[in-house]
Amino acid sequence: MSSIFEKEKIAIERLRTFAPEGEPYHLCYSGGKDSDCIRILAELAGVRHEIHHNLTTVDAPETMQYVKSIPGVQIDKALDQNGNHVTMWRLIVKKKMPPTRMVRYCCKELKEQGGKGKLKITGVRTAESRSRKENGGLVKILKKPVTVQKAAERFGVDYEITPKTGVVLNLDNDASRRLVEHCYRTTSTMLNPILDWTDQDVWEFLHHYGCQANPLYQCGHKRIGCIGCPMQGGKGMKKDFANYPKYKAAYIRAFDRMVKAHPEKYLKWKTGIDVYKWWIGDDPDQLSFFDEEEM
Ligand code: SF4
Repeated sequence: MSSIFEKEKIAIERLRTFAPEGEPYHLCYSGGKDSDCIRILAELAGVRHEIHHNLTTVDAPETMQYVKSIPGVQIDKALDQNGNHVTMWRLIVKKKMPPTRMVRYCCKELKEQGGKGKLKITGVRTAESRSRKENGGLVKILKKPVTVQKAAERFGVDYEITPKTGVVLNLDNDASRRLVEHCYRTTSTMLNPILDWTDQDVWEFLHHYGCQANPLYQCGHKRIGCIGCPMQGGKGMKKDFANYPKYKAAYIRAFDRMVKAHPEKYLKWKTGIDVYKWWIGDDPDQLSFFDEEEM
């Protein structure tokens, strides 16, 4: 098993191998521990990069304060086609349902929009989730899979197709680099230099470089996410709302606006509180919504 020093060397090499010529990487910075690793690694590798944080509008205030303390960070707002700021509150009304584990429209619209035409660096690690194990890779290229496959064959690159239709490369060799260089401007291409790092690697690395990381870790948080994220389940959501009651009130107001804007759509929900109870798992008729829902 590699030590963290060996893994650090490999990650730096990966960053240097794929560094775009003549322009910076787009470094996706969430304010969590993994994104601190890629930020420090990009410095150590001496590669040009811009640090971008996507404003979700439901990040914890502690996270926003920490993100703002990072030198050079750019905070990007999601904008719609008319240039209006897309917030979680507006999305809820537009999508006519709260975000759920199955329908995570907010990730797509609030977190994954930045860096078009740029080569992105992410802190994705396989140790973090099963879906990442199934869909991850050292390089992941989304969009235009057929075109990318054709180019991969032309360049002689070993690739895999993942269940979510991404093209994945696992070797940091010259052929992979040429393919990435060829594709990244017209696709969504992500380099995941710490894909194989464990939690222990991450903390060892951050401690070695004196990075304190997001203060929420010191309050017992294992992961840094949005307030009320449905991915953590009802128990975690309730804990969030006990800690951040203003956000609970804001979600209920958004649900209220949603119900008022589309009253014909909901059989049981009359108020934002009804939706909220269903959402956090306090409604005995939990499944009824999906029976009638079509997105
Ligand atoms: S609330 Fe959860 S699902 Fe939604 S953007 Fe945040 S992390 Fe993604």
